[in-house]
Parts: sequence; C-alpha cells; structure tokens
Amino acid sequence: MESEARLEETLGLVRGRGFRITTARRAVLQALVLGGSHMTAEDLAAMVQKSHPDIHLSTIYRTLESMEEIDIVDHVHLGHGRAVYHLTTDTHQHLVCEVCGSVLETPSRTFEQLAIDLRSAYGFELRTHHFAVLGRCKICSTGATPPANP
Ligand SMILES: [Zn+2]
Ligand SMILES: [Zn+2]
Ligand SMILES: [Zn+2]
Repeated sequence: MESEARLEETLGLVRGRGFRITTARRAVLQALVLGGSHMTAEDLAAMVQKSHPDIHLSTIYRTLESMEEIDIVDHVHLGHGRAVYHLTTDTHQHLVCEVCGSVLETPSRTFEQLAIDLRSAYGFELRTHHFAVLGRCKICSTGATPPANP
C-alpha cells in the first residue's frame, strides 16, 4: 500500500509535467519504487522484464533518460562509474567503502558546508548528489572482521 501510494504520487508528478504514462514508464517507476534506490539500468530491466518481457534494455535507458530530463529520476555513480538510479523524491548522499563495497546513506545536507566553501572560493557549483564519496567504512578502517552476509 505504501509503495502503491508512492508510485501514484510519482505518476502524478510525471503527468503534471505534461508527460503521458506509457507502459514502460509505469513499469520502470514501479521498479524504482519497489526495488529500492541502488538499482542499475540492468537491475531495473531484469525486474521490469519479469512482468514485461517485451520491454528491452534500450527502452529502459530511454525511459530513464526522459524521466531524468523532467527531474523525476536522478542517477548517482557509486564507486567506479557504476550509475544507479533514484527517484528525486528520495535524495541522500552516499559514502562507499572501497574495501567491502558497502554503501552508507547520509542526509542530503552532509556536504552542504563543502558546497558553500567551493562556491565562495572557486565559484564552483558542486553537484553533491552526482557522485558518491569513496573511503573506508568503520569496519574496514578499524580492521575488524565484517559481519558475514545473511
Ligand atoms: Zn542512495
Ligand atoms: Zn552521471
Ligand atoms: Zn568496508
């Protein structure tokens, strides 16, 4: 029910921006709502194709592109260029561990001060959401054994 409401809200935003709800758009947005926020285009395609085997990866890419143009969807690069997709109603920052690959989500305002400093010193507009920050998570930096995957 929660995700159903989330999907309807998102479809409402798309219509509000003058876009039709095609089968592919609905399926991709539904996959984004249900699948959580760190899905690559391939992950989304695999999920969509369970119910719509006729929707090809190229259509998924085109759909994501058009949804990015109207600011419904956004992508972020986690680690070495791997782009994952988010609904723009779900924004946060990403800290990625270079050792174990874990992703820590932090609030959007995490790099606010850095953005302010870069703007005043260099006139540079930091797009804080576009890239993850790489480093070592608490477990890897302290040398403790990471918990086994459940
Ligand atoms: Zn995220
Ligand atoms: Zn990008
Ligand atoms: Zn780690």
